[in-house]
Amino acid sequence: MTILDYMRQRVEADGPIALSEVMKDTLTHPCFGYYATRNPFGSLGDFVTAPEISQIFGELIGLWAAVIWQQIGSPRKVNFIELGPGSGIMMADALRASQLVPDFHVALDLHLVENSLALRKIQKNLLARYAPTWHNDVYGLPCGPSIIIANEFFDTMPITQLVRSRLGWHERRLSFDQQTNMPTWTIMPEISHLANLLHPKVLNSAQPEDIAEVSSVSLSLADALARRLVSEGGVALVIDYGYCNSAVGDTLQAIKEHKFVDILKNLGESDLTAHVDFAALSAVVNRAGAIVYGPLTQGNFLLSLGIIQRTYNLMKESNHKQARNIEAAMVRLIHSNEMGSLFKVVAWAGQKINLLPGL
Ligand code: SAH
Repeated sequence: MTILDYMRQRVEADGPIALSEVMKDTLTHPCFGYYATRNPFGSLGDFVTAPEISQIFGELIGLWAAVIWQQIGSPRKVNFIELGPGSGIMMADALRASQLVPDFHVALDLHLVENSLALRKIQKNLLARYAPTWHNDVYGLPCGPSIIIANEFFDTMPITQLVRSRLGWHERRLSFDQQTNMPTWTIMPEISHLANLLHPKVLNSAQPEDIAEVSSVSLSLADALARRLVSEGGVALVIDYGYCNSAVGDTLQAIKEHKFVDILKNLGESDLTAHVDFAALSAVVNRAGAIVYGPLTQGNFLLSLGIIQRTYNLMKESNHKQARNIEAAMVRLIHSNEMGSLFKVVAWAGQKINLLPGL
């Protein structure tokens, strides 16, 4: 059975499929899911993420984590948690760099939230010596203070798209064209209660045919993380592409072999993501009693963590060609025409942190 056969069966049984279900299945279904069936990272894969571009990205985050551990009182045990570790390279770089603070290494227990068995195997190759524990979701993570890192994780969380009509908001779902039997978008006739989750600014400014997005999965996840940080202590660092103020717009995108592709023609064969609404997440985190630091741009975050100094130190240890590549990678991470502005960084803390590096 292919993913399209599976979706046709679902539509026949239950009618058009919610976009959030489409995203969940095309990305994480154990048989057909994009992440379940391949290693999509790097120049030979479909897309390149910041930790794949430069080791310095993970190194700076590792040092950030070690400072945070000190800032929360150097607890004797701390859960060092990554959400969606991909190839595991960011955590490997982070742990190598944070060896500079040996007591942090003695204290940390490594936890990886990853539901792709294929990617768990790849992560194990890089991280086995740190004896990680894997989890399918955040709900089974152990108690105790936590330092949580998540790069390009929230953008893979399922979203709902709502389309404005003169009467109200309607869900956009997936169905199959009766003539071609191929997938197509359909707008549900009934008014969706999910519009209650939209920001008042979006509700007030939208015009007929505008599309607004809401990710109830991300909102619940942010709420669960914030509650954990408040009750158990700790800080989460979330890095992703997205926007600081809620707004209308269709940000759903499919990427394959480093190019944007037609979403409906590449279901299960392309990465499917949406921009993160940082304002909506921050509101939930604040409501749960945690403190939000940021968002600020990835470029400014990395500059204040000292990416330039670290780059030049690494260049000094390298030959001419390597040095040029190291410099080019740094530019890609921080320049506003590259990843520097589109990507945002936010920290959520269970308690007030006096010195929060970079934020
Ligand atoms: N952080 C990595 C990878 C980002 S891709 C990097 O920056 O390179 C998204 C990652 O999240 C993948 O590892 C994917 O398998 C994982 N993932 C996606 N949805 C998930 C879910 N619902 N539960 C657990 N892991 C998930």
